Amino acid sequence: MTEEVKKYDVIIIGAGPAGLTAALYTSRANLSVAILERGVPGGELINTANVENYPGFKSVSGPDLANKFYEGAMQFGADYIYGLVQSIQPGNPYHTVVCDNGTYQAKAVVIATGSVHRTLDVPGEEEYTGRGVSYCAVCDGAFFKGLPIQVVGGGDSAVDEGLYLTQFGESVNIIHRRDQLRAQKILQDRAFSNEKMTFTWNAVVTEIKGDGKKVTSVCVKNTQTGEEQDLPAGGVFIYVGVLPNTEGFRNLGITDDQGWVLTDEDMHTSVLGIFACGDVRSKKLRQISTAVGDGGIVGQEVYQYVETLNNTEQS
Ligand code: NAP
Repeated sequence: MTEEVKKYDVIIIGAGPAGLTAALYTSRANLSVAILERGVPGGELINTANVENYPGFKSVSGPDLANKFYEGAMQFGADYIYGLVQSIQPGNPYHTVVCDNGTYQAKAVVIATGSVHRTLDVPGEEEYTGRGVSYCAVCDGAFFKGLPIQVVGGGDSAVDEGLYLTQFGESVNIIHRRDQLRAQKILQDRAFSNEKMTFTWNAVVTEIKGDGKKVTSVCVKNTQTGEEQDLPAGGVFIYVGVLPNTEGFRNLGITDDQGWVLTDEDMHTSVLGIFACGDVRSKKLRQISTAVGDGGIVGQEVYQYVETLNNTEQS
């Protein structure tokens, strides 16, 4: 007996701000919608301490905002299905989405899988992950109360999360490979005026050291002089950028040479009926507001696409 494959108008892969907005728009337009997500809703918001550049809120915690997005997205009857998507097989009119928990079909598929954190790939990083090495200040910051904290990276995440960590650490030192931060000016100003924050410039991490149980220091090398030093560390937070979460979709030929999904400005990929939105796209500005904007556009485009398909089928 062949297993019946559940069919939807649209399957949205990923429940971050972009995917949840797409779900809100498409389910509110009366389409049948499934959100396939391997974890809890919210995407990177879950790992974000404070958000103060999303309109409507002076300041809101990432997990709280994620919860509001989720409640809004689910109010018009979308299905939320836990599962890891393994592949998308394009078809006409139905595309097939193979998940670790089953197979689903939909007329339109929206890829909203976002990004994953980049690792440093230095000795000690993997060994001490969860034992001092972390990629999430909001999850693990409180473990390092009164201890020296090292943060690696110079972008918005490193500085924003570094500032958050000052409430726990005895000190928070930012290790950056250049002598200028990439982070927004407002974050830089706050970091430079925070008395708990220090900076190690022109330095790359060569090793994360520990006592076998937990992290004890970070070994850095000065890029100008070659000099090495050990910086004491209770916790090490790594924020050295992000990589596209597109492993399962590279066969579709819709990604650039780094793996980000290419779309037009209406979120269409080069495969008819397959769309993408949010951080997973090849784009300049990755913010909650731009992810939400993408999600709204894709919602409207998917609605029109499915309507056109339905009208063609009937005529
Ligand atoms: P990012 O902006 O790509 O910054 C990554 C940082 O890590 C850069 O400073 C980079 O150095 C450094 N880096 C990269 N590879 C490295 C390596 N192998 N070793 C050492 N350092 C390395 O990434 P992000 O900070 O995670 O931010 C990701 C996106 O989210 C960005 O678009 C950002 O604007 C957004 N975001 C926004 C907010 C906010 O608006 N409040 C908060 C968080 C994130 P170089 O500078 O030398 O390249």
